[in-house]
Amino acid sequence: MTLFRRLYLHYAAAPVRVPDLAPTHRILALLYSPEEAALALGMPLVTRGRASIAELEHASGLAPERVAPALSSMMAKGLVLASGRDDQYRSLWDFFFLMTDVSFARLENSQPQRELAQLREQLWQAGWSHDLFASDYPFARVLPYEGTLEQSAALFEHERAAGIVNTAEAIAFMSSACHVAASHAAPASLQSCSHTTGGYFCFNASAHYFVAHRGARYVDRAEAGSILEAAKASGLVLTAMNQSERIPNVCLCCPVCCIHFRERRESGNSAAIAQSGFQPDFASADCEGCGSCADVCPTSALVRLPPSQGAEQRPSASVGLLRDACVGCGLCAVACPEGAVTLHRVESVPIEKTTQDAWRAFEAQRRW
Ligand code: SF4
Ligand code: SF4
Repeated sequence: MTLFRRLYLHYAAAPVRVPDLAPTHRILALLYSPEEAALALGMPLVTRGRASIAELEHASGLAPERVAPALSSMMAKGLVLASGRDDQYRSLWDFFFLMTDVSFARLENSQPQRELAQLREQLWQAGWSHDLFASDYPFARVLPYEGTLEQSAALFEHERAAGIVNTAEAIAFMSSACHVAASHAAPASLQSCSHTTGGYFCFNASAHYFVAHRGARYVDRAEAGSILEAAKASGLVLTAMNQSERIPNVCLCCPVCCIHFRERRESGNSAAIAQSGFQPDFASADCEGCGSCADVCPTSALVRLPPSQGAEQRPSASVGLLRDACVGCGLCAVACPEGAVTLHRVESVPIEKTTQDAWRAFEAQRRW
């Protein structure tokens, strides 16, 4: 079996599987030198553990003086996550992270970056997205915008984007991987994107890693707050990993380019992202019928109703809510100039504690 075939099979053990297709193999050939592929085979995937430098030397059979340069090169390409004191431990990013986050974290417009984006799009078109999201346990969830909730609604800590950001010891911000990849591949279905401010917060050890290796920059709490306010004003959706403790990221998702929203839109897969647990109420008496709420809704859950329908049949004077389509983001409430929309809690969405728990639940609930 060739080295790269073994590398493919190594990646194929991840919770989110890797299609055995030509674009996948081209991606591996594009990203790895043979020495790097040999090192990668000794590394557990990031969801499965980590390996020390000594273990990597032993597993790869590379001369010790070849290991450090190869690891540095892999770090620079975003193939590897280092953790532990003095970067002693390494894990291989799962193919999912590699192709959705890590490889597009920089705003480079290089030929390999463009080719990677095009290959990723080919995988998407070949049905990779169905496998990505083929679980009833969504690995990301929507967070509601605070200030849009009814007064009696209380948020858990894992639902408070500002709280998650503000309690981190280190905060880094970087460009939206989905947006960068979409801009390189330019599929027709994403041409309507007009957002320029999407991005991704990561915290603590991840913040240091992404600043060192992936083009992120540190931001202080004041700037993070400003970024969150700008996201609200420009119609981006707040999302995070679907877990309740030590949340590693908060995304400011462009609902056009984000892969979770794209899967929801193109395949009708509501498990592509978890609903926030909130939905809007409309105060009909305050509604002026401007339609701003429907205009900003990222999932087309609000539809303008024809004038013939009586107010008693609908939640506001001019819009109807498709409850199954609503993700509970709160953008409709943000957009309403009359303050006629508030979010109320509709259910407690099942949620795991840690990243590992979330991946276990994802794997256990796979549909194929
Ligand atoms: S109706 Fe649309 S904008 Fe309002 S909370 Fe639901 S998904 Fe968000
Ligand atoms: S934005 Fe507010 S006022 Fe305008 S249609 Fe929606 S609920 Fe009514």
